[in-house]
Amino acid sequence: MNLHEYQAKELFARYGLPVLPGQMVTTPEEARDVAASFGSTVVIKAQVLVGGRGKAGGVKLAHTPEEAFEKARDILALTIKGLAVRKVLVAQAADISRELYLSIILDRAAKRPLIMLSAEGGVEIEEVAKQSPEKIVRRHIGLEGLRTYQARALFQPLLEDPKWVSQATEILMKLWTVFRENDCTLAEINPLAITPQGRVLALDAKVILDDNAEFRHREWDTWRDRDEETRGARLAREFGLSYVKLDGDIGCVVNGAGLAMATMDLVKHYGGEPANFLDIGGSSNPEKVTAALKIITGDSHVRAILFNIFGGITRCDDVARGIVQSLEASPLEVPLVIRLTGTNEDLARKILSEKGLAVTTSMDEGVRTVIARAQEVAA
Ligand code: GDP
Ligand code: MN
Repeated sequence: MNLHEYQAKELFARYGLPVLPGQMVTTPEEARDVAASFGSTVVIKAQVLVGGRGKAGGVKLAHTPEEAFEKARDILALTIKGLAVRKVLVAQAADISRELYLSIILDRAAKRPLIMLSAEGGVEIEEVAKQSPEKIVRRHIGLEGLRTYQARALFQPLLEDPKWVSQATEILMKLWTVFRENDCTLAEINPLAITPQGRVLALDAKVILDDNAEFRHREWDTWRDRDEETRGARLAREFGLSYVKLDGDIGCVVNGAGLAMATMDLVKHYGGEPANFLDIGGSSNPEKVTAALKIITGDSHVRAILFNIFGGITRCDDVARGIVQSLEASPLEVPLVIRLTGTNEDLARKILSEKGLAVTTSMDEGVRTVIARAQEVAA
């Protein structure tokens, strides 16, 4: 789950990271009031869960409350990378003389957190990585954690003033605590700004939380922005399904992550494009099957659906009942291809054939059939 900047800054502030005061609002009137209460120049910032808001016109300075009203009105009318702006952050603005980039990211390949630091801040790090990769300093954090002297050593070559180095070091140590204690996969400050007065500030904040750790963070549920969640993602979360939307037209309902991956591979192998990754898990709960079908039919690109079930603990007859129940409640408008094999497959075939639904036990055949059906629909 991604946090909005205003939420990430609230989290940062709890750990003593230097963020400037701000407030999230949803109307230009509120933006004007907040700006008036600060009595200083403010920055109005679109709160949408994408980067590059600055370039898209979603970050604007306002010198007076009236200007805050106008800028907030303009930004609230924007759509940035497909996301309608519904909220803005009104924050005290800083003067900037330098912008750095600082983040800690979970490096899955190395199985360790990775610190990334660059003197070229402000712009998106992907840009820096492309244009001048040598300008990014990388350092993994091992089991022993991060020591202050190690953090200091990263900044010393980049910052000439020792006062900047100490502030930046303290910021990195705190950022590491944020990362660790909150099960982050990313904690990013871009820009990490140096003011003409010599203060080092976190002017932007980006945090991604590891959803697998949600069970031990009660608070996360209150942070979730339901406006930003798609219907499919919400249903998947509510029913405990793993769902990733993709761009193709073959909807896939599979039990088990490994089989789901293999199914997607095979769809691609035969020239199809999967519309999603969807793992209904080891359960044969008909409600999950219904939710899975709802998620997939909610994607207008889907032209045909493949069920690929390998019955182990999951019983094929339970899945078959789930399919029947679900279709009786809401009939499908796209072709359905069912591959079932394993525990109680005979019973499953009987249940489905009584309802006129064909079943194959061959994954190869199932995948080729569903691609053919999707092509017929397209034609
Ligand atoms: P992003 O484009 O989505 O990453 O949004 P940022 O919060 O990073 O803002 C983009 C840029 O706006 C920054 O790199 C700064 O140059 C500028 N900016 C943001 N906050 C302030 C501020 O308080 N004062 C000034 N002068 N510029 C700011
Ligand atoms: Mn930024």
